Amino acid sequence: SAQRLDYLDKSGTVFAEMTALANKHKAVNLGQGFPTLPVPQFIRNAAVEAVSNECMTHQYTRSEGHPRLVQALSKFYADKIGCTLNPMTQIVTTVGATEAIYTTMQALLSPGDEVILMQPFYDSYPAAIRLSGGVPVVVDLAPPADRPALTSGDWKLDMDTLRAAVTPKTKALFINNPHNPVGKVWTREEMMQVAAIAEEFDLIVIADEVYETLVFTDSPEKMIKFASLPGMFKRTITLGSIGKMFGVTGWKIGWCLGPEDLIRSVWMIHQFNVFSVVTPLQEAAAISLEHAMESNFFVETSKTYQQHRDRLIKVLSQAGLTPTLPHGGYFVMADTTSLEGVLPSASDANESRRDFRACRFMTTEMGVTAIPPSAFYERKEGAGGLVPGKHARFAFCKSLDLINAAGERFDVYS
Ligand code: PMP
Ligand code: GLN
Repeated sequence: SAQRLDYLDKSGTVFAEMTALANKHKAVNLGQGFPTLPVPQFIRNAAVEAVSNECMTHQYTRSEGHPRLVQALSKFYADKIGCTLNPMTQIVTTVGATEAIYTTMQALLSPGDEVILMQPFYDSYPAAIRLSGGVPVVVDLAPPADRPALTSGDWKLDMDTLRAAVTPKTKALFINNPHNPVGKVWTREEMMQVAAIAEEFDLIVIADEVYETLVFTDSPEKMIKFASLPGMFKRTITLGSIGKMFGVTGWKIGWCLGPEDLIRSVWMIHQFNVFSVVTPLQEAAAISLEHAMESNFFVETSKTYQQHRDRLIKVLSQAGLTPTLPHGGYFVMADTTSLEGVLPSASDANESRRDFRACRFMTTEMGVTAIPPSAFYERKEGAGGLVPGKHARFAFCKSLDLINAAGERFDVYS
């Protein structure tokens, strides 16, 4: 096989591994981030409507994006970005945000170009960078060193470290807001500092904002789109996902939006690896978005998720797995130090990464599955790093019954 496969792990992504392990052991799966909440009727109706005509939505649509969807997106984003988006030239729809990440890297990077990632990072960023000939350079988004993080806002990026990571080869940086797995909602001040560095060194910014509609009422900062910051639109590619917006991760509809020149480059690659994204679900996504813009859907949905977050926080606290309150997204980072006495040793488990041992142990012995966050860090042999080593990531985009069931499993174990 090709040399580029050397960059990838033969066993597949951490999500596939942990979901398979959860299924095998009939564990309560709070690992992989897919909602188990009922999909609202208007979204299911939109999908039915989109396949019910005799002809057109069953054929290829426009390669850059289905017209009705790009129009709905440009309307949705106009206020949030603070400028009118040309739906025909400034948006490309993709097979989920995952394709958007990969295609963007293919479009931007020449061999040896560096891209700065804040770790923990979403696992497909470094893979897409390496597969495109680029080099990931990581800086830490770190919790306080001297006390537990109370909220996701306590996880901070040191701006001098970010600046020092820039070299003449740096092409781009990723910023994920709200952040997976930490749940951080970046403040305007933090983003302005990142923006100043992007401006000074002429970097492209990939703003992964797939969780933009899930910011909670106790977040000190509202959702601010990176592209809306002064001067940033021209250097920012914003990513989004219908899967996250409407709780339908299986639809796999996403997009890139930004200035015409960058979006055109992304589309040039997209036309040869995908050509056009599934037509009926783009139509359904457009109908759903049109409906959501006319209603309170996003406010109501984030209220529901906030209740689920609070329930999970309680369950984890009671189980002695100290959680960090997230301000956005649908994940909680929890400190699993209290499991220390029961975890198998590195040699017994044949696994040096403590968080992998903890998450496998929780699945097989306690019946609850979480994701080991070292999958979101640069791989280092040995302890797996102090920060990821002691944490586990739990998802709360799950029914209250499932979250409660996790609580019962923890109770039974203790
Ligand atoms: N970015 C982040 C931060 C994500 O969490 C995810 C999905 N978990 C994606 C991108 C990929 O989105 P999609 O499912 O639309 O491909
Ligand atoms: N983004 C989801 C998560 O973080 C998983 C997506 C996937 O399985 N590729 O859990």
